[in-house]
This record gives sequence, C-alpha cells and structure tokens, in this order.
Amino acid sequence: MNGMVEIAPNDRFDVIVVGAGHAGCEAAAAAARIGARVALVTLRADNLGVMSCNPAIGGLGKGHLVREIDALDGIMGRLADEAGIQFRLLNRRKGPAVRGPRAQIDRKLYRQAMAAELLDRTPGLTLVVGEAADLVLKNGAVAGLGLADGRVIAAGAIVITTGTFLRGVIHLGRERTPAGRVGEKPSTRLADQFQQLGFRLGRLKTGTPARLHKESIAWDMLEPQSGDDAPEPFSTLTQGLHRAQVQCHITRTTEATHDIIRANLHEAPVYSGQIDGVGPRYCPSIEDKVVRFGDRSGHQIFLEPEGLDDPTIYPNGISTSLPRDVQDAFLRTIPGLANVQVLQHAYAIEYDYIDPRELQPTLETKRVAGLFLAGQINGTTGYEEAAAQGLVAGLNAARRSSGQEGAIFSRADSYIGVLVDDLVTHGVSEPYRMFTSRSEFRLALRADNADRRLTALGDRMGLVGAARRMAFAEKSSAISELRRRLDQLVLSPTEAQRRGLAVNQDGVRRSAFELLSYPGIDWASLARVWPELDGQPAAVVDQVSIDAKYAVYLARQKDDLIRLRKDEATDLSVFDGTGYATLAGLSQELRSKLDSIRPRSIAQAREIEGMTPAALMLLAAHARRGIGRHPGL
Ligand code: FAD
Repeated sequence: MNGMVEIAPNDRFDVIVVGAGHAGCEAAAAAARIGARVALVTLRADNLGVMSCNPAIGGLGKGHLVREIDALDGIMGRLADEAGIQFRLLNRRKGPAVRGPRAQIDRKLYRQAMAAELLDRTPGLTLVVGEAADLVLKNGAVAGLGLADGRVIAAGAIVITTGTFLRGVIHLGRERTPAGRVGEKPSTRLADQFQQLGFRLGRLKTGTPARLHKESIAWDMLEPQSGDDAPEPFSTLTQGLHRAQVQCHITRTTEATHDIIRANLHEAPVYSGQIDGVGPRYCPSIEDKVVRFGDRSGHQIFLEPEGLDDPTIYPNGISTSLPRDVQDAFLRTIPGLANVQVLQHAYAIEYDYIDPRELQPTLETKRVAGLFLAGQINGTTGYEEAAAQGLVAGLNAARRSSGQEGAIFSRADSYIGVLVDDLVTHGVSEPYRMFTSRSEFRLALRADNADRRLTALGDRMGLVGAARRMAFAEKSSAISELRRRLDQLVLSPTEAQRRGLAVNQDGVRRSAFELLSYPGIDWASLARVWPELDGQPAAVVDQVSIDAKYAVYLARQKDDLIRLRKDEATDLSVFDGTGYATLAGLSQELRSKLDSIRPRSIAQAREIEGMTPAALMLLAAHARRGIGRHPGL
C-alpha cells in the first residue's frame, strides 16, 4: 500500500501497536503510560495476553526480565501475581545473582487480568479488532496502517508484535496447516510487505506439547512438586498473593517411550526434511532429546495445571510434531499416563522472523522511520523476552511521536539492555532466550535489585506512576538509613571475637556492614551484638545483607562498568550520513559489517565479530571529532 489511502481524522493515534500478545500488551501499556494515544490492533477481542505455550512466567534469566519490567512500572509482573497459582524461587540454594522467580499461571485468569488492566485501567488505549494487513508509508516513514477489512488508521509510530504469525505453518506429522498458532490464521500480507521493503527475513520453529485431561492421569504414582512455603511475588507493588496454590507433578519418559520415538523418526517433520526452520536449542522437542542424548534412559516431565478450574494439564518437556497416533502411543508408556486422554495434540510451528540487526537499540527499524518491532518477530522465544522488548518499543514509539529522542537501555543496568544489545548487534541463529550467563555483570544485575537499578531511570523516562514512585522512595530511604547505621557500628577484631563473630585478628576495625560480608555472619548474628538492629523490615534487611555479601565482587567490576558506560556514551551517529566506505584504515570486511549493523556506540561496535582494537581506536577518534554524547538518559 502507498500513501494514497484516505485517513479519517478520528482514526488518528500517536502509536499503533499490532498484536496483543506479550510484546504487544506491554508495548501498548508503556506507550499509554507516557501519555500517548494508543490503538492496540489484534485479531480477536478475547486474545489479550494469550499464553501460546507453557502456563508459566519467569524462571532463570526470564524472572530477572519480569522483575525489570516491573521496576519500570510494566504490567507482566503484577498480572502474573494476580493469576499465579504456584510460586517458586529457582536456585534458592545458590547465590542471589542466579536466583530466578517463577510462577505457574492460570491461563484464563491471566487473560482476564490483562483485559481488565488494558481496557479498564489504561487511559488513552483503544482496542481495534482486525487484521493488520498493510503499512501505509509516506516519504520512507510510517504514516498509518491498513486493515484487511479496508479500514485505515493513522499514526507516525507503529509497533509490530505479531509473534509466530508471519507466514506461520503448523506441522503435525505429515500435515501442514497455515496458522499463527492453533486455530488462528497466519499473517501473510504483512510478511510479504516486509519482504518487499527489503527486510532480511529468516525462518525459525518452535513446538508445544500435547494437552492432557487431568482425570485420566494416575496422580498417586507420581512425585508431587509444591511451590515455596513463603511465595514471593514478582512485583514490588503486590501486597500478598491471594490465589490457591497448586501442586505440579513429575514423571519421566522411559526406554519404551524412546523406542517408539526412534521407530517413527521418519514421520517427524524436522527429520523428514519438511521443516527448515531452526528450533530452540534450550527447549528441544522430545524427538530431538532422544536423538541428541541417546544414552539417557529417561527425560523429566513436569505435569503442570493450566488453571484452578481447568482440567487441562500441560506436560512440560515433551513438545513434538510426531503424528497423533505416535503421540498417543508414546504418551501411554510414561508412568502415570497409561490411560491418558489427549485434549489437544502437540505440534510444531514454523514462522518468519525479521533479522534483528535491522533494528536500532530503540527497536525502531533502520529501513523505515517510525516502524518498531518487538517480540518473537525479532527471533526471540518466550513471553518474558517478548514483554521486555514490547516495553522498549512502546516507550520509544511514544517518545518518537512526541518528538523526544530515543531511550536506550544499557547492558550495565539491565537484562533488558543485554537482550536488546545482543539482538541488534549479533542477530540470531536460533530462537533467542535469556540466561543469566548472557550478562557480563550478572552479580550486579540481580532479580532482587531490579527496582534499585531501574525505577529511577524509568521515572526519568516517564514510565513510572505515583504509587511505585512513592513505594520506591520509601524503600530506598529505609535501605540508605540502615546502611548508614551499619557503617557507624564498629568493632575491633578482639571485640568481635569476644562476641562470637569469627574475623581475622589483624587489628583492623570493621563496621557492621563489613562484618555482614563474612560467610559465617548473618543478620541474626549482628542483631545479637546490637539488639537495637532488631525489628527492621525483612525486605530492607535482605537488600542490605545481599549488598554486603557482594560488595567486594562489585568493587572489582567497577572498572569494567566504567569502561562500558564510556564506550556506550561514544556516539557513532557521525557515520549515519556518510557510512564507512570512505573511512581509510578499515578492512573491506569490517566496513561492510559496520555499514550493515550501523552501531550506535563504541560499545556496540566492540561486539561486532572480527572487530579489532585498532579499528575501534579509529572509530573513537572520528567520533570524538565533532560528535557529542549519546542521547541516553
Ligand atoms: P504472541 O504472544 O504470539 O502474540 C502475537 C499477537 O499478534 C497475537 O495477539 C496475534 O493475534 C496478533 N497478530 C498476529 N498477526 C496479526 C495481524 N496481522 N493483525 C493483528 N494482530 C495480529 N516460548 C517459550 O519460551 N518456550 C516454548 O516452548 C514455546 N513454545 C511455543 C510453541 C508454540 C506452538 C507457540 C505458538 C509459541 C511458543 N512459544 C514458546 C513462544 C511464546 O508463545 C512466544 O515467545 C510469546 O508468546 C511471544 O510473544 P509475542 O508477543 O511476540 O507474540
């Protein structure tokens, strides 16, 4: 479509968000929070916040993202708390940096909570039910959106979050059905337009397991898994969790299961050559596991309830695209499932994604001004990764519509920054999911301190509302006050020893905060020495205790952090007009990589494969001549 289409004046918005999945809902909420008039366009009125696959939010790395979204006053954490039916802090026995909050979610309650949040409690947001079909462009920038039914709405910023829908094809044995997910049509017109506009597209796949009837499972044979005794919410604004908490159960595949799968591998679309798309390495199908880990006699399966009043059970760990009869046969070889009734068979889905190196760190495309992409369309997998990108894109789309400069998240401050930087710099070769190991600063980027890293920044960006601002200010001042008191309480080594605290007898006086960093000394030991410390709020004590334990390690990382921030602040936009063709001293290969990635900063350029220290010095020297600072916040 071109700019010839008539646009009615009442159908004008600041931002249009296409898709009401996890990226779209978070994008619409973020844009509306900073005052934009938002149209949220989606295929069905009842599909806001649908969880296409597992009924869970959070986990290792992913839980960090949810806490960061919450710290920026996003919605995923609060809604997960509303709809959560089993909460666990993963890796509780390991260090705080790698602990990940996770919750089983009641799918229906989550959808209802999302609809109530966006439609009843988000001023400035209008829901438009329809299929986004064509981008309306004017002078290389977006001007509006054409719907398949002929309606057109106008906006200078559009966020596309169509998930697995671009030319989606479902595979189930030899059957191939065009679909965005089961029972929903794919988006082909949008995909065609992206291709015509010259975007680099690729093909990925993912899969989902069968859904089982609760009453057909022999639960008494299986090991139960409960949530935490004292469940922790995702959101710092949640005052207590009110839903009944459920149990999951654990079972395993058997040799008999693997024999059936092996005997039918030729029927699996991935092995018969019917699927070309690359699947998630970290979330493989059961046929992949049987082939790749042939020596294992069994693979664990978590049987997860999909809701409090829903008889559906999600068997986490056995996604497959084998034919229905093969699925029925192998499921019955699994302990507890001998008489299982299948409510919906497993399937794989193959879909187009757009190479995220087409994007700037604001998630605006380099090719079309005002066009933003977020979520699975950028080659990621997972609700949390999608929501995090949605927040970044919605924020920046709204900022663009009001003439503000882009807001960029740093790797030094957040997993959101790590996610976006990884995507736009390296692209993806398989569906990208978050892990704590992706951050070089994971001791600093913890799930427990997301608010301290991001809420003030979010407030400056205009994302944070009054309730969170107030709660955060109170918590921050309580932490500072307690820290100040701990710095003032000091013991000599002999006094410490006399009071039962084991420290080196080196004559060095230590503050209560320093003592807290010792492995054998915890808050209770301090409170025995200084009874006046009793009665502090647990959340404040936890934060100060973790700060003390990590203080030495974080001090060691300080220089690296300073260098990263300096590199991020060195703006390379001087090359936007000229490109790198005329820059003497660079190899042809580096020039073409720089031209295609167009890094925003030295930090991003440093990450480019094959980059050399000499080339970085050259870029930095040019950047220093005549260029200002990066427009970060
Ligand atoms: P989605 O949540 O898919 O939302 C897309 C939205 O766009 C929908 O609301 C849709 O209606 C709308 N839409 C699409 N086209 C149009 C259009 N033209 N006009 C208007 N609206 C449109 N993640 C994991 O982490 N692990 C897994 O094992 C896993 N398995 C999966 C298996 C399957 C079969 C599927 C479908 C997904 C799976 N996922 C998995 C991915 C997870 O569902 C997504 O990562 C997450 O939902 C992505 O969020 P999103 O917002 O990008 O897209």
